[in-house]
Amino acid sequence: MSGGMADAARQIARQQRRINERIRRFKAEKKAKRKHRLANGSQQTFTEDVELDCYWLCRACGYMQPQPIVSMCPRCLSPNDILDLNSNFIAEELRTIEAKQRQQSAPVADVVSAAAPTAAGLALLPVLPPLGVFVLAASLPAYYAMRQAVSAKIGTPKMPARWTMPEHIADPDEVEPTGTTTGKVVAGGPFLTAPLSGKPCVAYEVSVLFDAPKDAWPPVWIVEETRSAAFSVGAIQVQPMNAVLHLDMEPIDEEGLGDGVSLEDVLRARGLFAYDGEFELFEECLQVGDEVRLVTYEEAATVCFPPGPPQT
Ligand SMILES: [Zn+2]
Repeated sequence: MSGGMADAARQIARQQRRINERIRRFKAEKKAKRKHRLANGSQQTFTEDVELDCYWLCRACGYMQPQPIVSMCPRCLSPNDILDLNSNFIAEELRTIEAKQRQQSAPVADVVSAAAPTAAGLALLPVLPPLGVFVLAASLPAYYAMRQAVSAKIGTPKMPARWTMPEHIADPDEVEPTGTTTGKVVAGGPFLTAPLSGKPCVAYEVSVLFDAPKDAWPPVWIVEETRSAAFSVGAIQVQPMNAVLHLDMEPIDEEGLGDGVSLEDVLRARGLFAYDGEFELFEECLQVGDEVRLVTYEEAATVCFPPGPPQT
């Protein structure tokens, strides 16, 4: 993995552990409201762009960015897999492909499809030697290449289908911080808007858990999105897109959405469709005036904790 993908994968794994813990607590407090938004038969044919500010999505690694400056993914360096999710046509195509993928267990399906010609070659061998040998010879290298790819996939931390993270995130188990300070957040430029609560903020994180009915997949984290603007606390100035949050991740249900925020639009801007299944949404955000403890690292994102002594 390159271009900060390994950092992002570690960070996402850490965030998901935190959220899982938060979910357990939340569900113990009160039974989580589940939203079933299955508008059966709402398949529509779109041809035009949607009236929304949608992300551009790297099909190769799932990295989401606002309109790209160059047509190359800054994270996985894939040159031509950047999809403009503003296009209804593209979003619908992606939706169809992803729905098909969810009908099968990905790694197993890959092995089976690669192994099928090999099995056919072996079966044909006694009957029709030349053809059998040909099929076997053609399929074996493909099979071994596929098997390598599959084991590489299994050994790699699973990335959500859509993610946005700072480029470099320090692994706190391996890297010493360069500084820390506690104080109130001061804006350093334009605000962001937290996508779910609609709160003006300097940083937010949104996580989305998705489950489609009758597919072969368990619920998956489909969106992990951390964005930040410029801000400062005391003498520490944080550059845009260079902070990660370890604050309190809140589950957001229908009532928790901000004025004028629609779940459909939030999902659609990320190339997702509310009627495709059940979405559980989580958000944390950092606002001007919030008391926060910053921990800084050399050439890696600043981490924002609640004030107070470090929790162990
Ligand atoms: Zn990419």
